[in-house]
Amino acid sequence: YKTSVSGEMDAQRPHVVCVPLPAQGHINPMLKLAKLLHLSGFCITFVHTRFNFDRLVKSCGPNTLKGLQDFRFETISDGLAPENERGILDLPELCTTMPVEGLRSFRDLIAKLVCSSSDAPPVTCIVSDGVMGFTLKVAQEFNIPEFMLFTPSACGMLGYLNFEELQKRGYFPLKDEKNLFDGYLETGVEWIPAMRGVRLKDLPTFFRTTNSSDTMFCYNIESVNNAVKAKGVILNTFEDLEAEVLDAIRTKYPHLYPIGPLQMLLKRFSNSDNNQVGSIDLSLWKEDAECLKWLDKRDQRSVVYVNFGSLIIMTAKQLREFAWGLANSKYHFLWVIRPNLVDGGAEVISNDEFVTETAQRGLILEWCPQEKVLGHPSIGGFLTHCGWNSTLESVCEGVPMACWPFFAEQQTNCFYACNKWWVGMEIESDVNREQVERLVRELIGGQKGNEMRNKALKWKQKAEAATSLGGSSYNNYNSLVLQLKDVNK
Ligand code: UDP
Repeated sequence: YKTSVSGEMDAQRPHVVCVPLPAQGHINPMLKLAKLLHLSGFCITFVHTRFNFDRLVKSCGPNTLKGLQDFRFETISDGLAPENERGILDLPELCTTMPVEGLRSFRDLIAKLVCSSSDAPPVTCIVSDGVMGFTLKVAQEFNIPEFMLFTPSACGMLGYLNFEELQKRGYFPLKDEKNLFDGYLETGVEWIPAMRGVRLKDLPTFFRTTNSSDTMFCYNIESVNNAVKAKGVILNTFEDLEAEVLDAIRTKYPHLYPIGPLQMLLKRFSNSDNNQVGSIDLSLWKEDAECLKWLDKRDQRSVVYVNFGSLIIMTAKQLREFAWGLANSKYHFLWVIRPNLVDGGAEVISNDEFVTETAQRGLILEWCPQEKVLGHPSIGGFLTHCGWNSTLESVCEGVPMACWPFFAEQQTNCFYACNKWWVGMEIESDVNREQVERLVRELIGGQKGNEMRNKALKWKQKAEAATSLGGSSYNNYNSLVLQLKDVNK
């Protein structure tokens, strides 16, 4: 074997194949885990699917995906039609095609990787996204141990773990579409252990359908049940933040490794010798780092950062309400509007007097280095859709949130952020500009905003403790590494 950048390539080196779901919110935590494992001495093969590969080449440049000798990239097919013009990932379609096409293609890949080759030792373990359950079949066929990384919060996971119970108790499927609007979702679900105060509306949204064979509902049940076959389940959270929920989850998965926040743990383990792997970035859109210079010119904690993540698609009306709410708040704002965020396009605001009105106060861009933005001292609050990565990144930087959850377990994250962690305020799903204006003012300049900021800073300290030497995530990660290195013995 040739010597690697870190000088450690040898036939005995453990080799992990990492398989994320091909969406930004899943790729990011898997990449962080892969970088950590690389720092802990593993050779890494990071698997993309065809749908994203071309987008990544476009946004990050071809060099990123060349990889390094001990941090390699491979691509499997996903059965999706070639990238559609707007790069919109159809989740139900993906859940249907991956278990067939992905399975076939992944099997071929593993057949290739189990044999040692001139540039990589044989595969010793698979770390797959929890919702890429088909990988378990291949792992079993080749007798390779597999661990699963679930990228939602633990509270979101506990929601999915209760989907079968929702069905048994008759909450799923909905009897009537009207239940979405008639107050039914306010029903309490006190019977779920460790989720006091939660209502139906706070659970992951995939049960909100009258279709008894809904793809996303069934797929999520299958995923959480499938994962009991894995050697262990990894979560991007930490004990202090979700202690009670984690205990409830342990009854299903005794080998549970909460090792988050991954970004903090990665910082602890990083060293300057690993710049090449450390700097690998897999953003599906080109990051605009100029915004950091714009932030440098603003006052401390004076700017609201607005970003709705990588997947949701809002209506032009919703966009307009957010725009005018921000404009009327009179605060500075940094707003990421990804090219496919708005159904029908974002022209409704770019051709609007909103642009002239906010020219001195607002900066709008397509994609930004979010963690750096959240860590910038000028940021005073985050208007977010409550994706788990965004929520955790915000908490890690001590930034309070105005929450507009859209789908999946974002609703559960919002409930916990607002009612358990006290770091968020919720915006109604039927968003209107008056509420946005009021909450933004409160977030940046109000007393509640200040209290939430203090709370968030406390959580940040707890997260730092969890990822420091002897902390819970630090220790859990070390046990995980021992398991991963030991699995074949
Ligand atoms: N992100 C980013 N720049 C952006 C928007 C998002 O780097 O302009 C990253 C963000 O830091 C997070 C991920 O993309 O790690 C989004 O994941 P999240 O779970 O918050 O939401 P999703 O996209 O899955 O809805």
